[in-house]
Parts: sequence; structure tokens; C-alpha cells
Amino acid sequence: MGAGAAGGAGPAGVRYTPILLGASSPPGRPPVTARLNPGELEIELFCRGLRLDPSCSLDEDGRPIARTRAGLGSGLELVIPGPLKDLWLNAPVAEKFAQASPYVLRRAAAGPALSRSRPGAGGPGNSESNGYEVVHEHEGRAYPVRLPPEPAWYRRKTSSGVEMMRVGVLQGTYLGIYIGPPCTYWRGREPENCKFCTTGRNVGVNEALKKSVEDVVETALAAKGESGVTFVHLNSGYMEPDGGLDIAAPYVKALKERVGCLVGVQMIPTRQLWKYDWFRDLGADHFSFCYEFHNPEFFAQLLPGKERTLGRDTYFDALEYAAALLGKGACSGEIIAGVEPLPDTLRAIDYITSVGAFPTVCIFRPVIDADMEEHPSPGPSEMRVVMKHMWDACRRNGIPIGAAPNIEVSLIVNPTDAVYLAGGGLSDWWYRAKLRAVAWLARGHFRRMRAPRPVAESAETPATPRPHWGQARFSPSPLRAAVSPPGAFERSPAARFGARAASATR
Ligand code: SF4
Repeated sequence: MGAGAAGGAGPAGVRYTPILLGASSPPGRPPVTARLNPGELEIELFCRGLRLDPSCSLDEDGRPIARTRAGLGSGLELVIPGPLKDLWLNAPVAEKFAQASPYVLRRAAAGPALSRSRPGAGGPGNSESNGYEVVHEHEGRAYPVRLPPEPAWYRRKTSSGVEMMRVGVLQGTYLGIYIGPPCTYWRGREPENCKFCTTGRNVGVNEALKKSVEDVVETALAAKGESGVTFVHLNSGYMEPDGGLDIAAPYVKALKERVGCLVGVQMIPTRQLWKYDWFRDLGADHFSFCYEFHNPEFFAQLLPGKERTLGRDTYFDALEYAAALLGKGACSGEIIAGVEPLPDTLRAIDYITSVGAFPTVCIFRPVIDADMEEHPSPGPSEMRVVMKHMWDACRRNGIPIGAAPNIEVSLIVNPTDAVYLAGGGLSDWWYRAKLRAVAWLARGHFRRMRAPRPVAESAETPATPRPHWGQARFSPSPLRAAVSPPGAFERSPAARFGARAASATR
């Protein structure tokens, strides 16, 4: 299952002029630049952030800014309309770098009439603006955007009295829910939390500390019925003794039986690989694995808890096993771009796609209150290289991205978003044609997967694996080991946020 809807309804063969930063212009005038295409604008906003003009009425027109989960969704949800597909984006607005952004969100002087009632609203063709535009203040270019409205169910309460938006939030068109207690890496006098993360400051503060299965089911039913949600994504942090995967089991079972939706599981990987068979039998449709950095020095220094308790190979084993179990395009490897050396990020994309998974690439965001709050946001030109590489790697490896209906993830540049960066040659045209065909052929399959159905498997952790579990075959990929020569971390701006430096200053 891919992370986004296929960019299939747009005109075939559309080509875009790449941005011409620094092209010649008369002295004293701003540099001449081409108009950005939607994919380029998405990357610009992730990297540079967005300021808010006083003409904006976000309380009335937009979704509330939600500092939940790891904090990467703590920006403003917006949609960039496009001819190939609309792009969903959680634009940074609160961080320091966003205050210096050349991009400003404002109400268009004579914008089209508000159109705010489209549930889900993820697919191509839904490209109207609702009276807002993003303006590059130095160049004067304006880009129409749409603010998705706050769903009515956000402020309703579950039967146990918990406000639904404290149970889960829309991050694009899917429902994201953090389950379980705050990540154990945040505990103790010398926490081992991942340096970019703020989960330990959000769970129990901005979102409910405990989310019962009933709370999750009621919230998911509301999100499905009123917002057209097709996909519920469960994640959590580290829990002793085995990472914590087991706690997701009753949620998965209940979502399949009582809601009827695609369910993604993004938990700390387990070394008991047969548990992925158990989760498949419970109904999990997707597993994702956040290993964040391909370079082992960056992994060790910036993810000290993961390094001590798991190590990169635990992630690789679980990703390769789950990808073999669920099939091509069903699992993802999640990484952060803009911190480790660019070649390592490109290697991560090559590795993930080579094992049949799709990459979910977060552009690094120096989230407020994170240890890495002062780390610079990456440059857009480098991120365009990353995202084009992501598209090309998915194409080369035949990853069926975008087949699942209405899944647009606003925290990342979806693999399908990168269609706007594609070269536009014959191989791109052929890949897009195949993606459209796969999405069309898979419609019936996904319709059945989104119907509530009984699940025979128990959500109680099995005492022993069943004989047919744990049989998926994979051989460790040789691309695991391809990394930059040692020493890259100490030379990088991330070095001052390394594990020892951070613990010494606490
Ligand atoms: S594992 Fe890392 S990213 Fe996930 S919640 Fe814990 S500290 Fe945050």
C-alpha cells in the first residue's frame, strides 16, 4: 500500500520548468525565478516555513495546530492544488526559521468563494482554493492554496469523555493516533530520546495520556463517517521488554471489526519476526519502520535509545521481513532528510525501495522544544534532489505507490507527490501509466479491506507462534552496509546535538 493517491487524473506528459534560482536579472532587482510547480512549492514550504498574515482567520477556516506525537505535525495543514494531484502539507509556522520565511499565507484579495465541505478531499481534481494564497514576498508570486477545515468531530467527546482530537488527529487525509504510554526513552535522569522528537512533551499534555480501544474506535468511526478517512495509523514509542508492538493488537482488531478501514502500524520493531504474521492475521495492512538515519554514526548519536536497545539491524530485519510478508509496496521505511550527508539519504532510499518498501521521507523540522530545535532547516535544492531520487527509485524498483484510496500524508513529501519532480521521459510516463492501472485494478480489493469484518485471531499475545508464522523469506540486503566513510557525524552541524553532548547539558 502506497502512502498517497496515484497522480493519475492529470494530463499525461505535463512538463514543468524547473526553478531557476539565481538566473540573471538587472542589478538592484530581485533574481528572476520561474514559477514553482506544486512539488517544488511543497518542498520550499517544508524547508523555509510560512508566516501568517493578519488577514488569515485560521480559527474559522483551518484545522487547529496540533502538537501531538513526535511533533512533526505541529504546523498548519494546507493543500496545494495541482493538475496531476493536490499536495497535502503540514507547513511549519511556529518555529524560528519559519518567522524568517519569504513565504506568507494571506487571504487572496479577490479569492474564489469558500468551498469547505469536501470530506476527505485527497484526490486529483479537488483543486479549488478557499480564498487563501501563499505569496513569496520578495518575488511577488502568489500560489493559491486551500486550508482544510476543522472537522466537526474534533471537539466532540467519546463516551468516556475524552475530546476526540485528543485521541487522534488528521495529518493530511488519514487519522494518526499515538497509543500506549509516553515513550520509555524519555524517562529517567538521562533520557535517551531521539533528538528531533517531542513526544515526551506532548503525550499527556496536548493529547490524552490513555486512549482506550473504545476511544479509538469511536474517534475512527467519526473520522471515517464525516471526513472520509480510509486509513488509521497507529504509532507509539519504546516500551520494555520487546519494544511494545503487542499493545497495538487490540486496537488493530477492533478497527478491522468495528470500523472497517485500512490500518497501519508504526511501532518499535520486534526481534520476534513471527509477530508480524500475527498482526497480518489481525488485519494490519501496513507496517512502517522509523529508522531515521542510514548513516550509523547519525543513528547512534541522534537516536541513543534506539541504538542501545535495538540497533539499525533490528529495523532492517523487521522491514525486510514485513515487506516479504505483505508484498511489494505495503510497508515503508521512514527516514529524515536534511541532517545526515545527502549521499546517505539517497542510499537509504535505494535500500528501502530495493527490499520492496516505499520510502516516507520527512524533511527535517527543528521542532520547538526538541533537543535539535537549533539545528538548521535543510535547503530546498538538496531536498529536491532527495525527492526526485525517491520518485526515480520507486520507478526503478516498480513500487506500486498510490494504489490505496485517499491516503495523503501531510508530514512528508509523499512518493506520489514527487511526480512533479519527475524528468517526464518515457520511463516516467510508463511508470505513471502502470500506477494508474494498479490503482484501478486494486479498487475492489481496497473496498473489501475497508468493510468491517470479523477477525478470528486473538489480540492476546500468543504464547507460542503458530507453525505457519515466521516463514516469510528474506536475505539481508547488501545495501544496508553502504554508508559514507566514518567521521561524517563529527564534521556535521548535528554533532553538537549528539548523545553525549546532550546528556552532559541536561
Ligand atoms: S522512539 Fe524516538 S521518535 Fe519515537 S517516541 Fe521515542 S523518542 Fe520519540
